[in-house]
Amino acid sequence: MGKPTGFLEFTRELPKKRDPQERIHDYKEIETPFTEADSQKQAARCMDCGTPFCHSGCPLGNIIPEFNDAVYEQNWAYAYEILSSTNNFPEFTGRICPAPCESSCVLGINKPPVAIEFIEKSIIEAAFAKGLVTPQIPLKRTGKKVAVVGSGPAGLAAAAQLNKAGHLVTVFERADQIGGLLRYGIPDFKLEKWVIDRRLQVMEDEGVVFKTNTNVGVDIKDKELMEQFDLVMLTGGSTVPRDLPIPGRELNGVHFAMEFLSQQNKRVSELPVEKDHQGVSYAQGDIWATGKNVVVIGGGDTGSDCVGTSNRHGAATVTQIELMPMPPKERAESTPWPNWPMMVRTSTSHEEGCDRYWSINTKAFISDDNGNLKALRIVDLEWKNVNGRMQMVEVAGSERDMPCELALLAAGFVYPQHQGLLDDLGVEYDERGNVKASNYQTTTNPKVFAAGDMRRGQSLVVWAISEGREAARQADIYLMGDTLLEAKAKSMFATV
Ligand SMILES: Cc1cc2nc3c(=O)[nH]c(=O)nc-3n(C[C@H](O)[C@H](O)[C@H](O)COP(=O)(O)OP(=O)(O)OC[C@H]3O[C@@H](n4cnc5c(N)ncnc54)[C@H](O)[C@@H]3O)c2cc1C
Ligand code: SF4
Repeated sequence: MGKPTGFLEFTRELPKKRDPQERIHDYKEIETPFTEADSQKQAARCMDCGTPFCHSGCPLGNIIPEFNDAVYEQNWAYAYEILSSTNNFPEFTGRICPAPCESSCVLGINKPPVAIEFIEKSIIEAAFAKGLVTPQIPLKRTGKKVAVVGSGPAGLAAAAQLNKAGHLVTVFERADQIGGLLRYGIPDFKLEKWVIDRRLQVMEDEGVVFKTNTNVGVDIKDKELMEQFDLVMLTGGSTVPRDLPIPGRELNGVHFAMEFLSQQNKRVSELPVEKDHQGVSYAQGDIWATGKNVVVIGGGDTGSDCVGTSNRHGAATVTQIELMPMPPKERAESTPWPNWPMMVRTSTSHEEGCDRYWSINTKAFISDDNGNLKALRIVDLEWKNVNGRMQMVEVAGSERDMPCELALLAAGFVYPQHQGLLDDLGVEYDERGNVKASNYQTTTNPKVFAAGDMRRGQSLVVWAISEGREAARQADIYLMGDTLLEAKAKSMFATV
């Protein structure tokens, strides 16, 4: 423990955010960097508890008190060694993780928790700046060939680990760039894309081969894949968006969030947007929020990213509506410490300007004379507890039209795309339509593994990395009979 009285002396401080009025004019990262001295002060707040709940709260099992101590001692090389033993990509989680670790920090019981996520970011950025992140090329190759299908955080983590174990890894990606939702879902103001490119360069230097514009199941058939590789790792994500099949769904101006977000990420990276993206065609051309009344339907991360992007486009108004009731402002009694708290969350995008309404249902999209969206027909809901189950009831007389020329559907993703590769491989699906796997090995073919959103359903980057690492471990055992890849301690509290 670095400073026994640190938690009494220092308060929690996070990096300063740029002014909303400044940042809505660009797509650059919102937070300003932490200095090493700031990070040291924040790390000094860690109490090095006898039972550190934080690393059970982290889906990766990050060894948090130890890296906090190393940061306090300003031993960046040791802090990086500890952090990289459990997390392949702290530069992603240090920027966009909702930090369930902080919800289970013991200091958080009666004081603001340790700023773990930003300490994590400080460690990895210091490590890159000090030249500590160097390609770790395996000393010996096993000669086993592994195909990873999908290059999101799950695929990248699996590839990095399997390459470390000495296998020859090829990552196939159907999009024109590597990164999955890190690249074409999450906006640059949350994760600038040079952060991904910097990591990809390290992985390439370590020997991982990346193949873009390769839709496995179409450009390479399943049989070819099975013949050419000793093991196939499926990490294709959960890509089928939840639709809202109500009257007027076909109108111009009603779009899935991912159509809107992926287009903007392409623009920021100066890539052409007219191409089809991951099976989503831009049939209605470029989607712009400029000067429009935008309504985002759905209250999660995706919805919040649509809010931030719409404000950057210069929307006239931005509104976010949600079917469910407003969560409590403080941690709900049903989710006591150290659980992930059920409570209302305000993102940096919300801070930039947005009206938010809960308990609202959309009944129809209303057209003007030319087939363009002009309003949403909405109704207020009351949620009633009927025999222990919450049921929604429309509030009589509350139906009304809300002006809207751009509606963005951000109601989540239902499951991975079945048609094509998955059906061709004959994988089984679980009751939610995700790929069924036991210990990451599919139930139908022992040499086919699955991880990330494709297996667990839509989730978080930290879970995708965790799944990729765990699946790689199991795959290594399948290929070699044993493994030296790190195992993680079981996570007890992380339920996000
Ligand atoms: C808009 C948005 C914002 C989000 N924000 C956050 C956030 O702030 N923090 C957070 O923790 N999580 C966030 N998430 C969730 C997070 O991005 C996902 O949980 C995570 O990316 C899942 O990783 P994955 O590797 O399983 O899949 P993905 O990232 O979805 O990657 C799958 C990849 O596989 C490719 N693929 C699929 N099928 C094939 C095929 N047949 N051949 C070749 N390639 C194929 C796809 O093109 C895709 O690139 C967000 C999600 C969205 C949509
Ligand atoms: S990866 Fe997320 S949960 Fe784990 S320590 Fe980092 S911020 Fe916390």
